[in-house]
Amino acid sequence: MASEFDLIARYFTRPARTAALGVGDDAALLRPTPGMELAISADMLVSGQHFFPDDDPEKLGHKALAVNLSDLAAMGALPRWVLLSLALPTADEAWLAGFSRGFLSLAEAFGVELVGGDTTRGPLNISVTILGEVEVGRALRRDAAQVGDDIWVSGELGGAALGLQHLLGQTRLSGPAAAACLSRLHEPIPRVALGRELLGLAHAAIDISDGLLADLGHILEHSQIGARIDLAAVPTAPDLQQLPNLIGACALAGGDDYELCFSAPANHRNRILAAADAVSTRVTRIGVMVPDRGLKVLDEQGNSLALPLTGYDHFGISQPAMGW
Ligand code: ADP
Ligand code: MG
Repeated sequence: MASEFDLIARYFTRPARTAALGVGDDAALLRPTPGMELAISADMLVSGQHFFPDDDPEKLGHKALAVNLSDLAAMGALPRWVLLSLALPTADEAWLAGFSRGFLSLAEAFGVELVGGDTTRGPLNISVTILGEVEVGRALRRDAAQVGDDIWVSGELGGAALGLQHLLGQTRLSGPAAAACLSRLHEPIPRVALGRELLGLAHAAIDISDGLLADLGHILEHSQIGARIDLAAVPTAPDLQQLPNLIGACALAGGDDYELCFSAPANHRNRILAAADAVSTRVTRIGVMVPDRGLKVLDEQGNSLALPLTGYDHFGISQPAMGW
């Protein structure tokens, strides 16, 4: 039976590259780049709450890191180092091999180094802490949106939530549609390169983990302004386009897409389109920041939609079966 130390050595220890000291000592030693400040974020994934216990461990490894990378993307930070704390019911080596493969290959793809963590026995729980760097004073914060800013989103919304509906048997998708939506749900690609491009162009940004309305709502609250959105402008996942009655639930209120929502002055439109193009990412202008507080979604006739839909809230009254 492998010990905790064997498992750490086998699955989570790689030679240190940029860290002065990586996995193995009481603490890692890191040297931040002069002129940069640290951006640090943690996300915990709990079995039964954020994922199904029998989910593919490799995809889970990917997602555990991807959701953390997405938080740094939303700050415009460059991810550098990561810590991984795991509670495992048993030393299931097949699970660990898959999980570490998914986690470490995404880390490699984004140039992030696993420098430490903790491994303990307990109900399956995955806790990731990520550290990145951003030029001092230039991070994209939630409180910096201004009246008159354009509101933009990256990519397409609603695919992940539609995939979850399919998994839960609430919607039946065709084979290819299910594959596309489940890939959005299980293997999100964080918009790190776009976040870096937006420094100096965008005022505020957030990643869409709980749904566009909820996450844009956080920018509005922190920036103390309001917003108007054109429903027809919101880019939706291709498989959602044949399911208009699900657009509200999946693209506006559904979570897990990990796209960026950001606000930027109108005079930066062309530069934003060019910057997004440089990192091969679609960006779409969906609305504008306004002085009156609150969020209005307008239909094609310009009528304001009633919005009973909010995003995912772990302690909210009406919870879907699963949510991030
Ligand atoms: P300590 O007793 O000081 O808490 P541990 O025995 O928990 O140290 O961990 C030994 C080393 O392995 C430490 O450097 C720690 O950061 C690292 N480590 C433990 N678990 C993980 C993990 N899941 N992923 C990466 N590093 C880990
Ligand atoms: Mg420890």
